[in-house]
Amino acid sequence: MSLKAYDLTGRTAFLTGAASGIGRASALLLAEAGATVHCADRDPQGLHETAALIKESGGTAHIHPLDVSDRAQVDEAVAAAAEASGGRLDIMAAIAGIMHSSPVLETTDEDLDRVLNINFKGVLYACQAAARTMLKAATPTTHTVGTKGSIITMASGAVDTGGPGLLCYGAAKAAVVQLTKTLATEVGPHGIRVNAVAPGWIRTPMTHRHDAEAQTHTEGFMARMSPLGRVGEPADIAHAVLHLASDASAFTTGQILRPNGGVAMPW
Ligand code: NAD
Repeated sequence: MSLKAYDLTGRTAFLTGAASGIGRASALLLAEAGATVHCADRDPQGLHETAALIKESGGTAHIHPLDVSDRAQVDEAVAAAAEASGGRLDIMAAIAGIMHSSPVLETTDEDLDRVLNINFKGVLYACQAAARTMLKAATPTTHTVGTKGSIITMASGAVDTGGPGLLCYGAAKAAVVQLTKTLATEVGPHGIRVNAVAPGWIRTPMTHRHDAEAQTHTEGFMARMSPLGRVGEPADIAHAVLHLASDASAFTTGQILRPNGGVAMPW
């Protein structure tokens, strides 16, 4: 038992959604813990900014502009990341996602397809590419049993409750939880762990846009609901990602970690 369990020196991590918010904070923290970080997102400018921040702090970052809902782009980027590290990939954090709100009776097929394509299929493609790469890689001699690879998905507090307008978003996140639990049972025997993070309300560009567009004040409401009296910051979730990525969670798989300030969606 040692704090060295959090040390990711020599590990390769691939993160989607790394151009902003939770993904950027996670990429910065995994890099600080010693991992070589591959940052993927559809926002090239944001990716350059994340990579610059990592490099400024002495870390190693590569960028992969891509659309997570395009399987071929995801496969190609994950293969390139692994190839750059001698065929190994230790950590996948599938974080990219979009917010969508529409009442059930107004939800169209287009709404459903768009949200499921990004928030579910985008996570599925990343998990599949990562698991295949991890299964192929020889067990690194520096790793202990149970840490051949860690896959982390990004769910949401929306999986625990319904909420006005949350049909598409919540359905996609519920599917992510199912993917996480199922994949964990299938790759666990090979030493690969799969866990989900289900954040509460976190202050990011996504939630800022949501409050502005819907003309709501969910942030203030959530802060009052939390026993901790505040909403979350991206760093709160990045620490959960680091825990699940590292050997500190070597006996944890198929789980949903809920950093939500003690408050689930209160509807
Ligand atoms: P954000 O908007 O700051 O970041 C999301 C990132 O995903 C952006 O950089 C965006 O460009 C990228 N992205 C979106 N669609 C993409 C696509 N098709 N291909 C590639 N990249 C794409 O949002 P955030 O709050 O940091 O959210 C990150 C994740 O956390 C999302 O999956 C979100 O659902 C989840 N989450 C957020 C909260 C919250 O309160 N912020 C709560 C629960 C879950």
